[in-house]
Amino acid sequence: MVYMLPALSFESITTDNVSSFYQRKIEVDVLRLDKISPIISGNKWFKLRYYIEEVLSQQKKGILTFGGAWSNHIVATAAACKESGLQSVGIIRGEEPKEKSPTQQQAHELGMKLIYISRSDYQLKKIPGEIEADEYCIVNEGGYGITGAKGASTILDYCSKNYTHYCCAVGTGTMMAGIINRVQPGQNVVGISIMKNNRELENMVQELTKDDKKNWQIFHDYSFGGYAKHQPALLKFMNEFYKQTAIPSDFVYTGKLFFAINNLIEKNYFPPMSSLLLIHSGGLQGNRSIPPGTLSF
Ligand SMILES: *Cc1c(COP(=O)(O)O)cnc(C)c1O
Repeated sequence: MVYMLPALSFESITTDNVSSFYQRKIEVDVLRLDKISPIISGNKWFKLRYYIEEVLSQQKKGILTFGGAWSNHIVATAAACKESGLQSVGIIRGEEPKEKSPTQQQAHELGMKLIYISRSDYQLKKIPGEIEADEYCIVNEGGYGITGAKGASTILDYCSKNYTHYCCAVGTGTMMAGIINRVQPGQNVVGISIMKNNRELENMVQELTKDDKKNWQIFHDYSFGGYAKHQPALLKFMNEFYKQTAIPSDFVYTGKLFFAINNLIEKNYFPPMSSLLLIHSGGLQGNRSIPPGTLSF
């Protein structure tokens, strides 16, 4: 089956006001990157755009990258490469499953060559010998790197207002670094780590930011048990958020972001008169890994 990639729709990105949900004297908008495409949704295309340019200018075959079974980055890489007529290779952590997850199935249909390696080899990011690695641009897991952050900075091209705080979910920190590099003096960036106690993150973000900026902070208290873990309180919150705002979220990233911001607002973390932009970084495809019916959308 040849998979047709729907055209990316950057013109459908909106900033939706959700101040009434948060019920405080604070302006809260959501930047809807989830609307770009059901496949390369959210921040992933932005993080990949300059890697794609590199491949084209260096006349390589395509991109080789790494990810887990449900990785949004894997599907997005497959899609972005297909869009540009390039090849893609995904090195996947763990045994080849009897049945591919929908994420892997989609990457496969988009033409990605999937190679499964053991967890220990994955840790070392070993590239199997069957692949001519120098024919590809090797992209870190999650698109982490200066090139990824540079692309992520361009997310804010899609938002015309200025805010006091820009808030996003943090996996590798690439998107957050891009936002930090882009905002003006006096504007702050708040990151919500979706992993448990990932104390490397501050260094990883610092590594990708230009100056010694001090206008950012990462919160580590909202992981709900760790990466891709969830709890009833989170799912309940996501359903309520959807009911009141008509904005769907994913349980790995943006659900935790919206929940955390609610909690931080309740704790008066943001000074009165603050204005917040919450970046809806997509990821909705990942909700397919939880039982149907758990979420109301
Ligand atoms: C990958 C991803 C993130 C994390 O981005 P990083 O740049 O790795 O921090 C956030 N939200 C969604 C929906 C993602 O898929």
